[in-house]
Amino acid sequence: MTHNPPRRPPWQERWEEIKPLPLRPYQEVLPGLVQVRTKGSKAYLILEDDITLIDTGAVGSGERILEVVKDLGRSPDDIKNIVITHSHMDHVGGLPVIQKHIPAKTGVHLAEAAHVESHDPLPNPFIHPLLARICEPYLLRNDPGAARVDVMLNDGDEFPAFGGMRIIHAPGHTEGSISLFFPERGLLLVGDALQYKFGRLMLPSRLFTQDMPEATASIRKLATLDFETLVFSHFRPILTGADKKLREFSRTLTTK
Ligand SMILES: [Zn+2]
Ligand SMILES: [Zn+2]
Repeated sequence: MTHNPPRRPPWQERWEEIKPLPLRPYQEVLPGLVQVRTKGSKAYLILEDDITLIDTGAVGSGERILEVVKDLGRSPDDIKNIVITHSHMDHVGGLPVIQKHIPAKTGVHLAEAAHVESHDPLPNPFIHPLLARICEPYLLRNDPGAARVDVMLNDGDEFPAFGGMRIIHAPGHTEGSISLFFPERGLLLVGDALQYKFGRLMLPSRLFTQDMPEATASIRKLATLDFETLVFSHFRPILTGADKKLREFSRTLTTK
């Protein structure tokens, strides 16, 4: 007896076809949503008349993101808005260089805007004190420097991107971590609030997560949302049925 697997939407087949993608600098996740491989993480471009950029990679990623925009047949000046999921260096590292090239408005959660704007180095992200000390010289060498914040983001803020983008404050990994929810597109972008390894959802990395009970509470909050596709800053996306997966994972989390 033959078993026919359920037919998947064409964009999912396309994604499967071209994995792994070690040399591809970018890839479409959904129509209009492009994942850009930056140094250290992944940034996202929402391609509309105005382009929205989500995160900017580590230092050295800014020019690369702008090159990808040109490669897509668009002008870097089309980027009108930049949203930062949190102020770790692998997400804000490209921001100062991008801001030198284009005047896009930049939004950061109000709890972390001061880190981004400060001329002091970003806070050391390592939780373990010894690791923090060992890595300090590397972190200082790769600190992006100060960038401009134009919009202080808060839970529930709404923007027109991609049919409507809602800011969901999801603290824990950092105090100002945000997820971006696009109900019209059935899309949730969680930054570093979750990991997705070996086909399994997991808590955020213990190495870099400030407050795990708070991160757990944030995952429960995200699990109340309805969406189809879940997108991460360091992992492959879950293209379909992602809210059910997140609810299942959320139920396994012990209460603290
Ligand atoms: Zn992070
Ligand atoms: Zn990260």
